[in-house]
Amino acid sequence: MGRWLGCLLLAGLGGVAATAHAAGFELVALGVNGGLEDGNLSSYLIRADDAPRYLALDAGSVLPGIRAALRQGALAGGRGASGEAAVGEVFRQRIGAYFISHAHLDHVAGLLIAATDDTGRKPIYGLAGTLDALSRNYFNWSAWPNFADRGEAPALGRYALTAEAPGQPFAIAGTALEGTVYPLAHDRVTSSMLLLRDGADYFAYFGDTGPDAVQHSDRLAAIWQVLGPLVRRHALRGLLIETSYPNGLPDSRLYGHLTPAWLLRELKRLEAASGGVGSLRGLDVVIGHIKPSLEPGRDPRALIAEQLAAGNTPGVHFVLPRQGERLRLAAP
Ligand SMILES: [Zn+2]
Repeated sequence: MGRWLGCLLLAGLGGVAATAHAAGFELVALGVNGGLEDGNLSSYLIRADDAPRYLALDAGSVLPGIRAALRQGALAGGRGASGEAAVGEVFRQRIGAYFISHAHLDHVAGLLIAATDDTGRKPIYGLAGTLDALSRNYFNWSAWPNFADRGEAPALGRYALTAEAPGQPFAIAGTALEGTVYPLAHDRVTSSMLLLRDGADYFAYFGDTGPDAVQHSDRLAAIWQVLGPLVRRHALRGLLIETSYPNGLPDSRLYGHLTPAWLLRELKRLEAASGGVGSLRGLDVVIGHIKPSLEPGRDPRALIAEQLAAGNTPGVHFVLPRQGERLRLAAP
């Protein structure tokens, strides 16, 4: 990881050198695939450095991801807990809230399946349409018990479905983070991006999205106008975005997803909004939602890594995390 710097040496007033903790985010990958493998689907934990609680970004696979992260030392059980007690401690106590980018099953299955053993009243943030879909399609006593705080009675109230308006900053309960949701075009569904802020530092988490040109949309263009000024003042610590398929798929078969070629085209548009050539150099771009292949001998992950590297004229720092891996996103 190019930017794993714990502390920055800062020159104080009058030339006195002082050390200060470099602000940033910690991201733990609970699930990184975009389908097929039901124990490793899109989900990430994020927190401001050293904060006690995490926000979960999507929830395709939760408990298997926590187990993988504990095994790799990327999470600690707390109070000396180990084994399944540690898994339960992270799941119940250390995840303070969820953000759901859209209600597709591969982004919510882990939360639904483990909801029986969760505690408290945790907020689930998202766009109103996403939360309506969660309530209507899953928390309805037919597909699953109603663990939400509205809909088919009795509403058990374990989760507070908390709709946020696009472009309006809101405080994320139980954390010091502030979030702002922006809509994305994802085939027939409205997906969303969450822009997180901790003090002067920002991180952008993208749910599934297609390219503007294929979706006949200007939603990514609008987001690049929001992120560009943050890049320009060196406040964006990174972004996480999908690359579902290697190059070569016809646009008509993308179903609201990106390939390396399409992501690189979109990053050129972010570069243009950020001050032009060279402005994205070194920016951490975390790649998620890679769709595994059942074809023998085909490795989409290796192909995507290769194709992103080959076209990386903006000079960003692509990261393809494995399940259970921890990344630190901080100032260079
Ligand atoms: Zn999706």
